[in-house]
Amino acid sequence: MRGIDIEVSEVGPRDGLQSIKSIMPTEAKKAWISAEAATGVPEIEVGSFVPPKVLPQMADTAEIVAHALTIEGLTVAVLVPNFKGAENAVKAGVHKITIPLSTSETHNLRNVNRTHEQMIDEVRRIVDLLNDLPPDKRPKLEGGLSTAFGCTIEGDVPQSKVVELGVRLMEAGCDEVGLSDTSGYANPTQVRELVRAVRAAVGDEACTSIHLHNTRGLGFANVLAALEEGITTIDSSLGGIGGCPFAPGASGNIVTEDLVFMLEAMGLKTGIDIEKLLQVRKIVEQALPGEELYGFTPDAGLPLGFKPASKPRIASAAE
Ligand code: ZN
Repeated sequence: MRGIDIEVSEVGPRDGLQSIKSIMPTEAKKAWISAEAATGVPEIEVGSFVPPKVLPQMADTAEIVAHALTIEGLTVAVLVPNFKGAENAVKAGVHKITIPLSTSETHNLRNVNRTHEQMIDEVRRIVDLLNDLPPDKRPKLEGGLSTAFGCTIEGDVPQSKVVELGVRLMEAGCDEVGLSDTSGYANPTQVRELVRAVRAAVGDEACTSIHLHNTRGLGFANVLAALEEGITTIDSSLGGIGGCPFAPGASGNIVTEDLVFMLEAMGLKTGIDIEKLLQVRKIVEQALPGEELYGFTPDAGLPLGFKPASKPRIASAAE
């Protein structure tokens, strides 16, 4: 993993932007992605291949992918809800595709109008499509286990259900599965137990990532629990954009700036230059007038004498 301990996957251009009313201009999205990649962020989920009628915020995803692919070393990821979306993602040449499957079936029906069975079939079709590609053109396929920690429609989602669907996604041909706290319901004990159970069923190397929201203020407690269970990729969003209609003042995704501060302060290398990262926020702020940005580190600043893990602790003469 390029000499880094923990991979931060920025999902703001997708998860963040799809959850707010404002539509960020295409040029601003490109500037954001370029600037954030230049800080060392290794992976960015740049958009979602969904019909523009459903999510007009994502209508320019193909153009954004084309731009992101020009950035050396960046893993370009997208979300797709179905086969059609995967076809578009393949056409665009992305490195990674995530297809979400809500572990709560009611949520899945409402979200993509498919039962679990139908969704697994859709994943199989996508795998067939990917298997026809030359190996160097084949994007990685992640099955996102959404609402894994509880659902806003069904409430509790049994752990056994999440594990079962994780196994089925792997059997259908996904390269890995990720756990997603779509509803912001997770607590650290639950994170620990679910990560352990899913990894025991699919293998550690097939479950390395987690997607957390900070809806109830437990986002970073949950990050710590996930790290202690061996998770190595964590999703977050710059400025925590997205918000949550059910929790005023609470960010949507966990805040990238705070996540990078936490990891670097703990001695975990992210490969990200945090001072540069704090500057990227201005681009997002300017492009989204009236939208609230979240995060503590951007307001408080870095502690005096802060030594990030990713930089040499003694500055060399070359710097
Ligand atoms: Zn999310």
